[in-house]
Amino acid sequence: MQLEINADLAEMRAAVRRFTQDQLEPIAHEIDLTGEVPERTVPLLREHGYLGMRMPAEFGGGDFDLPTYCLVLEEFSRSHRIFTLMLDATSGLNPIAIARFGTRGQQERYLTGLCTGTLHASFALTEPDAGSDAQAIKTRAEPRGDGWVLDGRKHYISGAHLADVVLVMAVTDAKKRGRGGITAFLVDKNTPGFSVTRVDTTIGSDPIKLAELSFENCELSSASVLGEVGQGFKVAMESLTSGRMGVACSCVGAADRLLEMSAAYAKERYTFGKPLADRQAIQWMLADSATELATVRALVYETLRRIDAGEDVGSAASMCKLSASEMVGRVADRAVQIHGGMGLVRGFPVERFYRDVRHYRVGEGSSEIQRMMIAREVLR
Ligand SMILES: Cc1cc2nc3c(=O)[nH]c(=O)nc-3n(C[C@H](O)[C@H](O)[C@H](O)COP(=O)(O)OP(=O)(O)OC[C@H]3O[C@@H](n4cnc5c(N)ncnc54)[C@H](O)[C@@H]3O)c2cc1C
Repeated sequence: MQLEINADLAEMRAAVRRFTQDQLEPIAHEIDLTGEVPERTVPLLREHGYLGMRMPAEFGGGDFDLPTYCLVLEEFSRSHRIFTLMLDATSGLNPIAIARFGTRGQQERYLTGLCTGTLHASFALTEPDAGSDAQAIKTRAEPRGDGWVLDGRKHYISGAHLADVVLVMAVTDAKKRGRGGITAFLVDKNTPGFSVTRVDTTIGSDPIKLAELSFENCELSSASVLGEVGQGFKVAMESLTSGRMGVACSCVGAADRLLEMSAAYAKERYTFGKPLADRQAIQWMLADSATELATVRALVYETLRRIDAGEDVGSAASMCKLSASEMVGRVADRAVQIHGGMGLVRGFPVERFYRDVRHYRVGEGSSEIQRMMIAREVLR
């Protein structure tokens, strides 16, 4: 059973899947062997129109809607999580924030590079004492002369060690905090006082790295403020719904591939003279994964259709992110079990998927935070 978002996207899916299988999957194997993303990857994605998909055409973007973008995320995540991150770098929070809130000067300086993958941006909100409780950030920006001076630390910032510009959230009014006291700043990589102090490798694939950043007496001009002073939370929250839907679709794609690999292996692997596929214990695992995947997919596609129709979906995007990220964790666990030893050995995709999908329950608002928001709406 293949549910679809709409008829047009059903047609497009076949072409994206072909591209993923023929062009991206060999790169995924290379990444597994070397731990590095080959240099030809960005030009390949650019050449096929996959970079900057959601950004304005004026800056080299594709002007695609959210459902189309999510379909591509879903298909790419059938191969390697890194490809979805590369899409997000050119169409996600940072470029969207600059397109929406930036001055003409900021847009011209950063957007074409971000949309085409020649510039890299990171988003720095999380700190050692402020993760889920983002309003507790301590990094502060004080006015000095015509500009600002930034002091503080950030950690777990995706790809910030490679970023040309970092979008940094800092407190500008300690009394107001989330209600007008946090401001977004664009900090270029060579700004004196800004440094990358550590790079962490996670449970996920090697190229997916998180960086710790330090800002010490880091002087910024007034032109580095993105949006209005005190509008930082608005900037950060702007792409929340699309971010959650993007994660949900990536989880659906990863689960789809895991189920496909599990079914294929169950048919080819013989134990005690019969294929695993003939065993009820294995069939039930496949059935549970297929049912959970179809249920989540239906919720995610229905929510995408409502967003596309301009509806306010309330906490539905949180429900999608929560249910999809929890579902893919269970599907990955069953896939490892069905593959036995092969599911645990480095270099086989199932093992890599199992590690990569663990990120989804923590990043972009953990499962507990999604539940908190859903419950808030239920109790209102
Ligand atoms: C792969 C990855 C990429 C990331 N990239 C970025 C990035 O680019 N930029 C950025 O700014 N941050 C990034 N983060 C950080 C991420 O946003 C935080 O890890 C996340 O918000 C959780 O914060 P924390 O790690 O401090 O955990 P904590 O907030 O300390 O939470 C610890 C645990 O307690 C739970 N918890 C917290 N509060 C409650 C509560 N009130 N009730 C019940 N349970 C609760 C949480 O769900 C979690 O399970 C990334 C994280 C990951 C894993």
